[in-house]
Amino acid sequence: MNKKSIIIIGGGLTGLSAGCYGLMNGYRTSIFELHSIAGGVCTAWKRKGYTIDGAVNWVMGTRPGTEFYRFWEELGAAPGWKIHNHDLYLVNESRDGKPFFVYCDADRFEEYLLEVSAEDEGVIKELTGAIRKASTLSMPVDKPQENYSMLDKVKMIKMITQVGFFKKWGNTSIGDFAARFKNSFLREMLSESFGPENPMIMALFVLGFQHSKSAGYIIGGALSLVGSIEKRYLDLGGEINYNSRVVKILVENDRAVGIRLADGSEHRADWVISAADGRTTIFDMLDGVYLDEKVKRKYNNPNLFEPLVYVGLGVACQLEDLPASIGGLSYPLSKPIVIAGEEKKSINVRSYCFDPTMAEQGKNTLVVQFTTNYDYWHKLKQEPEQYRAEKTAIVQAVIAGLEERFPGITGQVEMTDLATPITWERYTGNWRGSYEGWMFDSDFSPLSSMRKTLPGLKNFYMAGQWVNPGGGIPTAVMSGNHTIQMICREDHKSFTSSKP
Ligand SMILES: Cc1cc2nc3c(=O)[nH]c(=O)nc-3n(C[C@H](O)[C@H](O)[C@H](O)COP(=O)(O)OP(=O)(O)OC[C@H]3O[C@@H](n4cnc5c(N)ncnc54)[C@H](O)[C@@H]3O)c2cc1C
Repeated sequence: MNKKSIIIIGGGLTGLSAGCYGLMNGYRTSIFELHSIAGGVCTAWKRKGYTIDGAVNWVMGTRPGTEFYRFWEELGAAPGWKIHNHDLYLVNESRDGKPFFVYCDADRFEEYLLEVSAEDEGVIKELTGAIRKASTLSMPVDKPQENYSMLDKVKMIKMITQVGFFKKWGNTSIGDFAARFKNSFLREMLSESFGPENPMIMALFVLGFQHSKSAGYIIGGALSLVGSIEKRYLDLGGEINYNSRVVKILVENDRAVGIRLADGSEHRADWVISAADGRTTIFDMLDGVYLDEKVKRKYNNPNLFEPLVYVGLGVACQLEDLPASIGGLSYPLSKPIVIAGEEKKSINVRSYCFDPTMAEQGKNTLVVQFTTNYDYWHKLKQEPEQYRAEKTAIVQAVIAGLEERFPGITGQVEMTDLATPITWERYTGNWRGSYEGWMFDSDFSPLSSMRKTLPGLKNFYMAGQWVNPGGGIPTAVMSGNHTIQMICREDHKSFTSSKP
């Protein structure tokens, strides 16, 4: 019997996941990817013997028994991976050089905070108690909300017990909470470390995942993670076409029937999934024909992850006084670094010394990143020489900034690399270089994703970070899985999954 077929636009983690689950459910799948490699933004690049990882800091579901772990098992990532759980979440130094440590273990963090300020015992225990509580909360990830039965909806009522927690901490800003500390150092450092404007719930979840060791780092980083999932896809019999930019989604009688590539070739299938950038999909590939007011509003007033200037450095030393952590070491600079016309008064540097695959023994890959203005870089790119000169100037300023804290490091630098929002846009097609799509806002909470279909268009789904606000690696693979569940339902067959 001829198998039904699915075309998947984009070979990022979402596309690979949709491909794997499509194959597990008896569909023929073809992925079309514009780049020459899989992974999308979940990638790394090698320069002069150093690997610069551009995505994996922490990944939810690395602990067996957690909700996302099942996806990693089924996609072939978990069986061979080696997980590193950090002791430190981040270190933030004050202007007079005093370090503030955020530990991943809530008990250790509590002990440390009490050592710094016993008089704040009440508020400290409230904080670490909330981190422990956050570490126990579960998220429904096994099926898309679109496929919920009445029973599933009833089960969701269970979540109501968590509503109070979400409400309390979602409505408290980090700045407001930090202001309750009597100790001025803790007050300032807590606020600065997590961003005074951000809601407490964000920090609590991140620290909760760390406390329960359910979101570790995968040794080998993005290349190792993507490589294992790409292998699973190919082992299942999937087809992947690289250097294949999709320019149009073919539509007949309001039904998606295939795609056209930049080289003019056309490919047809029973369903089309776009796991690529949302704006390109809706407005270029489909000419903005299939829209509703909510989608129009989002794209007219985008609230996106701010793009990055991402500096990779290879140094011929270990930098013993730069401790390994998820969020790196931040410290104030005596001379601000100017990026896209904006003064950056502090610097954050991350070391990959805990991953032996990132550099030779005795050497170290460092990453320094800043958020930046997309429009500035977009304009500058029209002047290639100025664009290059600006990149060089930033690298020099970053090295000077590191020299302030790590005297002698300048002479140890063997490799430098800098990616801008334009780099992300060029290699992955992500709109305005937004590497993680939409920020959460009042329209989109972590539990309410955008619609995976477009009004009036049949046999078509969107998946990935442009329909799952907040983005992220586990969300991408979940989104691929959910989209295939929706196709199975439409096709009147029960969804199945398997482990390699
Ligand atoms: C610096 C950085 C740090 C991060 N840190 C973390 C972290 O610690 N933990 C975490 O969970 N997440 C992290 N993320 C986010 C995470 O990597 C992404 O959210 C996730 O990988 C997105 O996957 P995706 O498949 O949905 O999208 P993408 O990776 O963008 O995949 C889309 C794919 O579509 C392709 N494509 C686009 N247009 C076309 C076209 N016209 N034709 C064909 N193909 C096309 C692209 O080339 C790409 O391969 C980080 C990301 C970055 C950049």
